Amino acid sequence: MSSIVLFGPPGAGKGTQAERIMEATGLPQVSTGDMLRAAVKAGTETGLTAKGYMESGQLVPDGVIIDLIKDRILEPDAKNGVMFDGFPRTIPQAEALAEITPVTHVIAIEVPDERIVERICGRYSCAGCGSVYHDTFNPVNADGCSCGQWEEKRRADDNEETVHSRLGAYHEQTSPLADWYRSKGIFHSVNGDRAIDTITADIFVVLNS
Ligand code: AMP
Repeated sequence: MSSIVLFGPPGAGKGTQAERIMEATGLPQVSTGDMLRAAVKAGTETGLTAKGYMESGQLVPDGVIIDLIKDRILEPDAKNGVMFDGFPRTIPQAEALAEITPVTHVIAIEVPDERIVERICGRYSCAGCGSVYHDTFNPVNADGCSCGQWEEKRRADDNEETVHSRLGAYHEQTSPLADWYRSKGIFHSVNGDRAIDTITADIFVVLNS
């Protein structure tokens, strides 16, 4: 069992690349952001705790996140490893993860801050299948998503106000993890400010190395 971590700022394209890696490797995507949004929608205790942090662009406390991951990793589809998207985001989360499952590759998708704001503010997805689109860079076809269940969905925290706090949290709390994983020899960086297919190709070079 071995897992992969997709690392990078909000809006770097982790979700888009995760879909492609999932198709090719069969590893399930484990996105703590998606899990928290589901918990908020379902009104669970975790959701109630997380909501305020998420709305203001702050990180949800480590204990809440680590408990979610401990449960998720026990699901049958995780038996051969998973692909983490948006986790870990702090050193304590990475330390906890090291106790939970081995990680073979941490792939950082690097995008400059000034590109993040425009990316996040135009982002939407298909509620039917989760495919991610963008008003300017990757608009959905006129007749909707190819999954046939097209319904436009925009995240409550994908707005200019919140994106600055999310970037702040990334630089202060998450980017120190790069050195932590670099020291373990499993950190790889790809330039995420290019065409989606080019980034995917680079990620597969890393995964096959
Ligand atoms: P994301 O979908 O990954 O952009 O996450 C959306 C929001 O969920 C973040 O801004 C945080 O408030 C929260 N969140 C997601 N993953 C984590 C995590 N690993 N640690 C702390 N907070 C998280």
